[in-house]
Amino acid sequence: MSPLIDRFGRKHTYLRISVTDRCNLSCLYCMPEEGMKFMDQGRLLTYPQIAEVVRTAAELGISKLRITGGEPLVRPDLEELIVQLKAIPGIQEISLTTNGILLGPQAAKLKAAGLDRVNISLDTLDATRFKFIARRGDLGKVLEGVQAAAEAGLAPIKLNCVLLKGVNEDEIVRFLRLSQEQPLHVRFIEYMPIGHDDAGWRERYLPLSRVLEEAANAGLTVDPAGEAPAGSGPSENFRIRGGVGTFGLIHPVSNHFCSNCNRLRLTAEGDLKPCLYWVDELSVRPALGSSEAMRALFLRAMAIKPENHEMGALLAGEAQSHLPTGRRMSQIGG
Ligand code: SAM
Ligand code: SF4
Repeated sequence: MSPLIDRFGRKHTYLRISVTDRCNLSCLYCMPEEGMKFMDQGRLLTYPQIAEVVRTAAELGISKLRITGGEPLVRPDLEELIVQLKAIPGIQEISLTTNGILLGPQAAKLKAAGLDRVNISLDTLDATRFKFIARRGDLGKVLEGVQAAAEAGLAPIKLNCVLLKGVNEDEIVRFLRLSQEQPLHVRFIEYMPIGHDDAGWRERYLPLSRVLEEAANAGLTVDPAGEAPAGSGPSENFRIRGGVGTFGLIHPVSNHFCSNCNRLRLTAEGDLKPCLYWVDELSVRPALGSSEAMRALFLRAMAIKPENHEMGALLAGEAQSHLPTGRRMSQIGG
């Protein structure tokens, strides 16, 4: 079977699967405060349909899966999907990205179903600020989720921290010290303009060069992380000297990593996205029931995958070469 290689020679081994566009939070960088319309539950791909898509993807060389959302843990019985996906020949690793709110009570059962590890979104260690960024929910529940993930053995645990100018930049050193003291992998992420009002993004976008400046100002010595924690993808990884955990920088805007892109995305209603940023999508629905049609669809995704996104060009005020997606991040999965 021909593997998934695109026009730029990039081999694709990684599929991110969104299982819902719904969420129990409403983070200010991800969705608008009001007016977010969620899709009817009947439009979601069922778990057997997702498994069918993954079977073909695995035959074509996809070996790593990430379950995401919206918030994936609001979809009932997620462990049943994980059991089905884990049984597919060729699937070597399944991870989950979650806001952590519902992880506490579910971590052990997800691990038992075959989940390998989790990324937990955590942008602040301050309970009041949490309410400002996430607009809902409770920081304490997220921290319980981190603890439960550690106890369940869902390691290495990564904490995704989107940096926002004037909002949480003063916590960079706190997060760095957390990575020094605990076996946690903090990944600072640049705020991306996905389906976004441009003005809000420009106001709060912060380049990640700021992290290394803050470390230096605090007198922290930064070393390369050596062997990167599993599934590090586009993250540049470091360690505060003597630290038990690591920290990573994911900087799609200031310095994109598209030349190494190995990922495809499947939305909750079944659209295959070759690139996070652009509007192009291919619905898998017409191909359900035919592995031949599904294979052709994946190969088509390779044929139309663009060379790179243009978030940096947008920041510089330059024209875009074609149309960015109108979806919000919660409708793609990050
Ligand atoms: N609800 C889950 C969560 O928050 O982890 C999974 C879905 S969320 C869309 C996936 C990741 O995308 C999260 O780590 C979140 O912080 C990140 N994200 C959302 N909007 C973003 C944006 N505009 N720029 C950068 N990262 C973003
Ligand atoms: Fe929900 Fe995750 Fe988006 Fe926050 S980042 S609103 S938790 S989907």
